[in-house]
This record gives sequence, C-alpha cells and structure tokens, in this order.
Amino acid sequence: MASSGFSNRKNFGIGGILISHIERQQPSPPTVIVIGGGISGISAARALYNASFKVILLESRNRLGGRVHTDYSFGCPVDMGASWLHGVCNENSLAPLIRSLGLRLYRTSGDNSVLYDHDLESYALFDKDGNQVPQQVVIKVGETFERILKETEKVRVEHATDMSLLQAISIVLDRNPHLRQEGLEYEVLQWYICRMEAWFAADADTISLQNWDQEHVLSGGHGLMVQGYHPVIQALAKDLDIRLNHRVKKISQRSNRVIITVENGNTFIADAAIITVPLGVLKANLIEFEPKLPEWKLSAISDLGVGNENKIALRFNSVFWPNVEVLGKVAQTSDACGYFLNLHKATGNPVLVYMVAGRFAYEIEKLSDEEAVNFVMSQLKKIIPDAMDPVQYLVSRWGTDPDSLGSYSCDLVGKPADLYERLCAPVENLYFAGEAASADHSGSVHGAYTSGIMAAGVCRRRLSVQHGMSDLFQLVMREEFAEAVVPLQISRM
Ligand SMILES: Cc1cc2nc3c(=O)[nH]c(=O)nc-3n(C[C@H](O)[C@H](O)[C@H](O)COP(=O)(O)OP(=O)(O)OC[C@H]3O[C@@H](n4cnc5c(N)ncnc54)[C@H](O)[C@@H]3O)c2cc1C
Repeated sequence: MASSGFSNRKNFGIGGILISHIERQQPSPPTVIVIGGGISGISAARALYNASFKVILLESRNRLGGRVHTDYSFGCPVDMGASWLHGVCNENSLAPLIRSLGLRLYRTSGDNSVLYDHDLESYALFDKDGNQVPQQVVIKVGETFERILKETEKVRVEHATDMSLLQAISIVLDRNPHLRQEGLEYEVLQWYICRMEAWFAADADTISLQNWDQEHVLSGGHGLMVQGYHPVIQALAKDLDIRLNHRVKKISQRSNRVIITVENGNTFIADAAIITVPLGVLKANLIEFEPKLPEWKLSAISDLGVGNENKIALRFNSVFWPNVEVLGKVAQTSDACGYFLNLHKATGNPVLVYMVAGRFAYEIEKLSDEEAVNFVMSQLKKIIPDAMDPVQYLVSRWGTDPDSLGSYSCDLVGKPADLYERLCAPVENLYFAGEAASADHSGSVHGAYTSGIMAAGVCRRRLSVQHGMSDLFQLVMREEFAEAVVPLQISRM
C-alpha cells in the first residue's frame, strides 16, 4: 500500500533503521502528524511548524475549522459553530492574534452576568401571546435565579455524592419557598434555566452540581466576532501542509513511530501524532488504536460528557424586529423557551440566529431543514405575529455530524474531577489536544487553541530529547502575533 507524506521515512525494516541513522547524522527535523483541522489541530501544527518541525495535518472534512465554521452564503459571515470570544481581555490566549488581524468584537456582556454571555438589558422577552415581559420582572427573576444558584452551593457542601444541578435547584426551592416563582415569573425562571442549559449545551438534569461552576472564566465579558471566526483559522493555517478529505481510521504505534491510516488506505508515518479529533469521535470509536489506548485514557473518554447545541440562522430581506441583542420567548418548561440572537445589532446584517441545546438540539436534527425552519418561524411568530418569511436559512447538526458528534464537552453527574487532565495526557508518542483536553477552558475556542499549543510544546520537548537535539526550537506563536500593538477593537463597551 502506498504511503504518503514523510515518504523517506516509511520503511520499518533494516533499510528503515539505516535511513534513520543517516538522517540523525545530518540533523533532520522530527516529523509529526496532526489529526484534525479545528483550532486546536491548526494551532498545534502551527507551533511545530514555527519550531521547524516537519508537520502534516490530516483533516476529514473538505474544510478547515471544525466547530469553528463561518458560513458566507448569506453574503455576510454567520458563525454556525463558535461565535463568541469568551473573555475579552489581553489574557485571552487568542487576543494577540485577534488584535493583529484587526478583528472587531461586539461585546454582549460584561463580567459575571447571570446570563453568561449576555447582559440583561440587551434582552426583550415575550410570553406565548406575544406580550413583552416587563423588564423589571426579567431583572427581578434574574436576581432570584442568582440567589437560587448561590443556595445550591450549600446543597453541594452537604452532599458528598454528586447530583444534577436541577435536583439541587429543586432542593433549594423546597427549603426556600419564598424563592419559588409563579405565573409569568415562573416562565421567566424557566427561561433562565434554558439560557444556562445553552451555556453548557446540556439539560439541567444532566449538569453536575459538583463541577458546573468550576470553570475558570476569563475577565472582560463575552464578545461576538463581528467578521466571524474564520479569519483566525485562515491566519493560523497559512503555509501549513494540510490534507483535506483525509479521514483517519487507524493509529498504530510501533518502535517510536506512529503509522496513521486514512480512509482510502494511504498511510502516513511520523515520529509522533497529535490527536485533536472531537471527544464525540473518540467516544464513538471511529478511530482504531493499535495497541488499544490504556484504561485510564479510555475511561476519561467515556466519563466526560458531550453536549449538543445547534443554530438555525435566518436571513430576511429587512429588519422587522426590535433593536435588542436577543429576542426570547418564555414558557412553562425550559425546553419550550427559546431565543434568537439578533445579528443585526452586532453586524448590521438582517439575520436572526435561533439556538437550541441539550436533548432538544438532537430532536431538531431529526427534522429536515425546512421543518426546522418552520418550527423556528412558528416560535418567531409567537413573538412577532406578522414576521416575514426568511429568504435564506442555515441549519446546523453538530450532534449527528460524524466529524463532531456533539458541540462541546460537559461535566456529567458523579464523574471524577481529573478527566480533562487525563484527556490531555500523552500516551507515549501520541499527544492529545482539543477543547475537551483543556482543563481550565474546556468547551471554548481559546481553550482548544491553548491546548493545541501546549500539546505541541510537550511533543516538541520530548522529540528534541529523543533526537538528541538541544531544545533550541522555541514556540514563537505569541511573538508572531504579538507584534501588532493595536488594542482589541471592541464595540458596545
Ligand atoms: C454550536 C456551537 C457553538 C459554540 N459557541 C462557542 C462560542 O461562542 N465560543 C467559544 O469559545 N466556543 C464555542 N463553541 C465551542 C468551540 O467551537 C469548540 O470548543 C472548538 O472550536 C473546538 O475546537 P477543537 O479543535 O477542539 O475541535 P474541532 O474544531 O471539532 O476540530 C476537530 C477536527 O477534527 C476533524 N476530524 C474528526 N474526525 C476526524 C478523523 N477521523 N480524521 C481526521 N480529522 C477528523 C473534524 O472535522 C474537525 O475539523 C461552540 C461550539 C458549537 C458546536
């Protein structure tokens, strides 16, 4: 079978050893295959490329970016995957790159908003009859929701075993009847739960009480990437050796080498591999490992959860909705609540994006595009009865897409706390990166980016030692993009 890439190193027989020996005498850079062309894979490949390693990136899709996917078919950028920079501050690992590319951010919230990536004043909520919920009701219930969440900390302290956040909320409400809500207020509370579920991409009855607030959230609030996330991917991928439509099926480790087999049977051989495919893909065993991954790695893969979030983007001929960042619909259950992100506010384009999370996000994936849009339009018409029909639409299916199988990782009830550390730990010459391998910033673009750079760093140091080279190579990523001294460009301070 033909081998492709790093072809002078494909032989494992005596000849192969000889070739290796000769190569060692004439210093040749170590070779690394990066599997997956999302932000973590691209950042890992870039870091090693900058350090003069020989790198090939294999990506199964016909595009780069993975769960960063900016669609341009509306004539304007629409992010169907990630769209916010979580933590609009210079400490954000992506800030130097975003600054140097001059990309604009539209800040939708400051720090510590009860709605995570939105501020309350940017919302307009409506009941099922299309009446706007008075803002003082929204604010009052928001404060109550914060109190309820604070009270769940006591429940956590009292219970050694984990439980779901929903169960903890119900204990809090039993103990504190004054925090219970009724009528419209009850529906608004459900809507807050709906927003929280969207943040975790999981239903409240599956979110871990022990871990739900342990995430390290950066300061500076949350900013939408006004021009979309794609320019970030494009800049990082420049000059890299990238092979699209290369779906990896098998990874074999032999004699300090890694043999990667792709769908069409071609093989790639390298000194090491960095695996950045989504957690959902690892869980589904779509890649065979030879030898099998150790038990500690396999149990981390199975114990960490993967949530689901989908977007239905609608482009209209003109804007007919209120000038707020988010239009929300309250209801009797969090599932039945919904919300539209008004991209017009941030980008000037007449686009609304409906977002669904958790089990309901999987339900939406069972519908055809037309059915999904009809459902979303029925929701919009409850808010604005004479809403126009869209002229274009896009529907994501992250949960069943075989290249993602979920939107991002989440902590399940009762699982160990060291899962992220185990996910990113190397197995000999296999290194792991991706959002699910980021202990501090899982589920985010900047977390995935950093994890790629970190995996590349560990791989670089180890290979340098193995190849008898002093670790002269330095990761120059930050310096490369830090030259521009322009500040972050943020609208809506
Ligand atoms: C709807 C949605 C909204 C989100 N919103 C935000 C947000 O606003 N802000 C934020 O910070 N984060 C957000 N996220 C999360 C963020 O997108 C991810 O954390 C991040 O992009 C993950 O990057 P990654 O490199 O780890 O994985 P991916 O981007 O998934 O990259 C993995 C790559 O591996 C490829 N691959 C899969 N199988 C194989 C195979 N067998 N062989 C070769 N290649 C393979 C995939 O095609 C993919 O390109 C969102 C995600 C979704 C889905």
